[in-house]
Amino acid sequence: MLEVFGIGDRVQMRKKHACGANEWEITRTGADIRIKCVNCGRSVMLDRLDFMRAAKKRTFIASEAKQVEPQSSNSAETALE
Ligand SMILES: [Zn+2]
Repeated sequence: MLEVFGIGDRVQMRKKHACGANEWEITRTGADIRIKCVNCGRSVMLDRLDFMRAAKKRTFIASEAKQVEPQSSNSAETALE
């Protein structure tokens, strides 16, 4: 069961897609979750609970990928104003 996820994350589902791939990108979150197969581009909408049950794990976490820039703002530098 996958409990934490966000738009842009990629997930693996318990069952692979009919096209043979098993990697999906989350394109919409809310009461319903929309995921898109990264291989064939097919979109599927699931309600949140179904999605959480069907997802196995995240393979890519968009929110972490955005933090590649070091956020060491408590180093000697102050603001860049
Ligand atoms: Zn597919």
